[in-house]
Amino acid sequence: MTDLALCDALANARHRLEAALAAADRTPDDATLLAVSKTQPAAMIREAYRLGQRDFGENYLQEALAKQTELAELSAIVWHFIGPLQSNKTRDVAEHFDWLHSLDREKVARRLDAQRPAGMAPLNVCLQVNVSDEASKSGLSLAELPALAEAVLAMPHLRLRGLMAIPAPATDPVAQRAPFARLHEALTDLRERFPEARLDTLSMGMSGDLEAAVTEGATLVRLGTAIFGARDTSA
Ligand SMILES: *Cc1c(COP(=O)(O)O)cnc(C)c1O
Repeated sequence: MTDLALCDALANARHRLEAALAAADRTPDDATLLAVSKTQPAAMIREAYRLGQRDFGENYLQEALAKQTELAELSAIVWHFIGPLQSNKTRDVAEHFDWLHSLDREKVARRLDAQRPAGMAPLNVCLQVNVSDEASKSGLSLAELPALAEAVLAMPHLRLRGLMAIPAPATDPVAQRAPFARLHEALTDLRERFPEARLDTLSMGMSGDLEAAVTEGATLVRLGTAIFGARDTSA
């Protein structure tokens, strides 16, 4: 993708988010645009940063760490790890990221809490919930959610921010909204259960379903192809 195409696509993505927020009677700063830069070269991230983008999401650790090294001078960048995380890879996330969206096991949480360097702010985490009831998808069941939330809230080097979901793809807007509504409801339940916790984040909505997610209360939308174009899947 050329720099000019990226500039257009990023402007379009911002417009889409603004329009969706306005249509849902929400204020323009009610949701943050997370640019999902997996498989994209460091130069694309640098260009998006130059255009004002600050939050970037990565799925593959080795690829992300290499790009972070290349982009070390971008001091205000906020790195989100959004892919599945194996327990033997937690140290890299603890040491190099600001956010983790895909936490779904206490063992992983304990390791991250122990490995987060003392000089860094607590790692912001979202618990990933399986809202589509598909056995193959990762994420916690709604029934498992309160116990993991309680455990994470007691960990000093993690800061529980909210919930994340990747619903099964659907094209019909009504069908798209149902799992997002379930995630919002789950967050509301957690807030009632843990009123001291500041649970302010619903990480939901991608290029194909941003509008449905914003209608149902998304505060962090994760856009990849809508910003950077189609991914080269051979990479
Ligand atoms: C790749 C990815 C995205 C972005 O998907 P697009 O459809 O390209 O917008 C968002 N969230 C997660 C967890 C992803 O892995």
